[in-house]
Amino acid sequence: MENLVNEKKTGWENLSEEQRKNIFKFADEYMYFLNNGKTEREIVAETKEILEKNNFVDISSKQELKPGDKVYYCNRGKSMYIAVIGEEKLECGLNIVGAHVDSPRLDLKPNPLYEESGFAYLKTHYYGGIKKYQWTTIPLSIHGVIVKTNGEKITVNIGEKEEDPIFVITDLLPHLAQEQMEKKLKEGISGEALNLLVGSIPADDKDAKEKVKYNVLKLLNEKYGIIEADLLSAELEIVPAFKARTMGLDMSMVAAYGQDDKICSYTSLRGILNVEKPRKTAICILSDKEEIGSMGNTGMESHVFDTFIAELLDKTGENRPNLLDRVFCNSRMLSADVDAGYDPIYASVSEVNNSAFLGRGVGLNKYTGARGKSGASDANAEYVAEIRKMLEENDIRYQVSELGKVDVGGGGTIAYILANKGVDVIDCGIPVLSMHAPYEVTSKFDIYEAYRTYEAFLK
Ligand code: MN
Ligand code: MN
Repeated sequence: MENLVNEKKTGWENLSEEQRKNIFKFADEYMYFLNNGKTEREIVAETKEILEKNNFVDISSKQELKPGDKVYYCNRGKSMYIAVIGEEKLECGLNIVGAHVDSPRLDLKPNPLYEESGFAYLKTHYYGGIKKYQWTTIPLSIHGVIVKTNGEKITVNIGEKEEDPIFVITDLLPHLAQEQMEKKLKEGISGEALNLLVGSIPADDKDAKEKVKYNVLKLLNEKYGIIEADLLSAELEIVPAFKARTMGLDMSMVAAYGQDDKICSYTSLRGILNVEKPRKTAICILSDKEEIGSMGNTGMESHVFDTFIAELLDKTGENRPNLLDRVFCNSRMLSADVDAGYDPIYASVSEVNNSAFLGRGVGLNKYTGARGKSGASDANAEYVAEIRKMLEENDIRYQVSELGKVDVGGGGTIAYILANKGVDVIDCGIPVLSMHAPYEVTSKFDIYEAYRTYEAFLK
């Protein structure tokens, strides 16, 4: 009997010349997107621009909504909800794809600048799950905003242009690292050692106490018109300064910072751009703060998304008391977040039959969680079957997997937050190697299949 055994094969075999071309072209566009935005604020700004070029408008500019209308809501410049209004009433349910735009990084502390032994440094507090040793001795850039008390907002981006300086966190030379090398990997570099080296020239001013720090402040004042206290009301993020690049002799992969989860953000954005007058209203979520638990008013735990859907209900003229809960109970969602790719060098943490492989298509996680599925949103079998049907009908390659061996670790996404509202949700994303590292690796084949998946789902 054909198909009796679920054969798991790479998607690269038997592709037509045309399919290959589409995959590579899409990956180039994805890398271009990555190189224009590395932080949640930059990605939201870039996305807004793309949306407006594609006839989406800010929802506040619309008094009423009708099928085919395309709107977005931008939450404090850090997260975003995008909608294409469907033919059916919202009450019949939404098709939602939800990704996140924040990535692990180093944030500057509120009082970051100090001088020691002739060097000026910026102190950081890491954001999200990082392996600290990976952030030393690589080129880093500074991105973000400084807001002055008069409301003026200064956008900062240093280290991306060829002519810009970059920054580095130093590490100990091996010759003197005997003691450091005996430590556990997680203790090798401490959080308080992640200090960014930013200057070494003293100011000419005779009276200045810390002349190197003073010189840095003078430079910042000349460039941005700020004083040291303005750093108190800033959000400055330290991210790798390298560009997204094609990887491998066969050009099959992408290496880049922040692919978790800009890879699903981009593919779902591209998916919704192709949606015209769907049957059910199509929604894309680009959320913030996923990497630190989705809390706060730009995170998915906030009620801002509910408010957005309530606004859709108001403006389509269908709202009535308690309708929102019903909308959610009738809705379906793909939680578009990356998946741990099977890495043969670290095979011991994975169970090979239930791992996601690079190049085998989009990866579904029925559940996540840790230690006995704790904290997981476990997709219902009926819903998994529905999604399988959609994927198979569209000839999209997919794999269903778990995040590593039982009891080895675990993780989560925004899936449970929507599932708790009553939405049917399954995690559906792209397998990644070296997740959360400054340079993550993905397969171009999977990127294209994810794009096709989100497009088909939203349509
Ligand atoms: Mn993620
Ligand atoms: Mn993550």
